[in-house]
Amino acid sequence: MVYAGGVTALDRVSLDIAEGELLAIVGPSGSGKSTLLNVMGTLDRPTSGSVRIGGQDVAALSDRRLSALRGRWLGFVFQQFHLTDGLNAAENVATGLLYAGVARRHRRRLAVEALARVGLAHRIGHLPNQLSGGERQRVAIARALVNDPALVLADEPTGALDTANGHAVLDLLHRLHAEGTTIAVITHDRDIARSLPRQVEILDGRMVADTVRARAGTVGAE
Ligand code: ADP
Repeated sequence: MVYAGGVTALDRVSLDIAEGELLAIVGPSGSGKSTLLNVMGTLDRPTSGSVRIGGQDVAALSDRRLSALRGRWLGFVFQQFHLTDGLNAAENVATGLLYAGVARRHRRRLAVEALARVGLAHRIGHLPNQLSGGERQRVAIARALVNDPALVLADEPTGALDTANGHAVLDLLHRLHAEGTTIAVITHDRDIARSLPRQVEILDGRMVADTVRARAGTVGAE
């Protein structure tokens, strides 16, 4: 991936993620993690190489079809949660279904189920400012899960949390993984990376380590 201006942010990176994996993409600031996340998440188109989701090369898709695919197959979790202030927890989670063609009457039920999965069944009517940071991130995780995505991309999901809440969020990701969810955690924190089953290390735009290689995969980015 070469940015306008000539910065090569990713160079010959080849990554396959199999269904059911929980992995860390780890590297220091500036190593290319966000670029990889954006390319894997179909938010940015790579200048060369390909991205396949469920075997389908996404390069041929129009922007409209790409955002439909993103809404259907991918879930995103961000460091700063990105919840909407005026919506309660269930309404925030239901926004994860807006582009999935789910009828309005089903959205609330699915949102409440997703909140129960993250241990927040008792917080469905709370607004973001009535929730702790850890709870907000669990709402954001429920929003990412509500559509049963093929892959959840979590960008520094504990970066804005204190240690205890950070551990609770990591425990939740482990539990979701045990239930079959596929999750990639982007982090600069080696301890977090080590706590996950697979570590992919990025340095200066290159993949310098991968604890699991040569697997059949569903997502590739270069
Ligand atoms: P990380 O997420 O690991 O901090 P990034 O993917 O943000 O790394 O950045 C990787 C490299 O690409 C850095 O050298 C950064 O300055 C450069 N970069 C990131 N985004 C852009 C952009 N939009 N335009 C030009 N260069 C960029």
